[in-house]
Amino acid sequence: DYAEDEIDKTNYVSRPPVVTIMGHVDHGKTSLLDKIRSSRVAAGEAGGITQHISAYTVNKNGNDITFVDTPGHEAFTSMRVRGASVTDIIILVVAADDGVKPQTIESIKAAKASGAPIIVAVNKIDKETANMDMVKAGMAEHEMSPVDWGGDVEFIGVSALTGEGIEELLENIIIQSELLELEADPTALAKATVIEALQVKGKGAVATVIVQNGTLKVGDNIVADTTFGRVKALLDDQGKAVKELGLSRTGQVVGLGDVPITGSALVAQKSASEAKEIATTRAEHSRAKELSASTK
Ligand code: GDP
Repeated sequence: DYAEDEIDKTNYVSRPPVVTIMGHVDHGKTSLLDKIRSSRVAAGEAGGITQHISAYTVNKNGNDITFVDTPGHEAFTSMRVRGASVTDIIILVVAADDGVKPQTIESIKAAKASGAPIIVAVNKIDKETANMDMVKAGMAEHEMSPVDWGGDVEFIGVSALTGEGIEELLENIIIQSELLELEADPTALAKATVIEALQVKGKGAVATVIVQNGTLKVGDNIVADTTFGRVKALLDDQGKAVKELGLSRTGQVVGLGDVPITGSALVAQKSASEAKEIATTRAEHSRAKELSASTK
């Protein structure tokens, strides 16, 4: 990571927020992500999506928002452990007919620990048994007091089924993100975070990343964790081959020698030799550590 005083801010521009969705199982995280994507991405493009996509960017009135579907799996935990916080804003989903549940409480704790602003999406308001006040009361017990109750947390009623409230949710995300004044340098060497990585037959290691600074380009010399390579191909969030990925954009990188750990930083280097040297040094360090641990 860069030290604060080494950062040159002359080329800084505002960047889109990166939003993650958390909440209890079955409260509608996946449905909400699917609904947002299908309502904001042109039908023809969305139609081509068959495999699970863990992150995507949508546009609302000229403002981009990147959503990441990671909190559910272990990757999110490992990212937190490694201190790579990709999230600018957290959406906490609570089902209007079910209220606060164990994983809701866990999510509140994790969200608060991250320091990112939290917006509560009260989902399934289309249901007859939906009860907004019940949800608000339950959340208030966990220091999540609604704005209209004199607290500081926005509660937005939504339905992943009908789409009701989703526009308001997106508007709220944009307001929050403007307050955060998120900025980065699109001209810098790229720095991204690996949110998923796997070995794909015929392609080799494929890493799904979110670009946090700079612009990631085909041909870039990259290092991630203990592995390195050159970007052979980039796929955007719709699986389309692209030449580059910009700020807060997400997509897949082909060209690393091996599969990097989820949560690791993928960083572009000036030269292939630098990328190789960093990765090799790290690999030696981790081998030395393993060796000393095994001889103790
Ligand atoms: P997740 O485990 O949090 O990802 O929850 P899912 O998105 O898988 O949703 C769990 C169940 O709730 C599924 O059967 C969804 O169809 C249903 N569901 C999700 N959102 C809504 C909603 O807004 N209204 C209604 N009526 N059902 C919903």
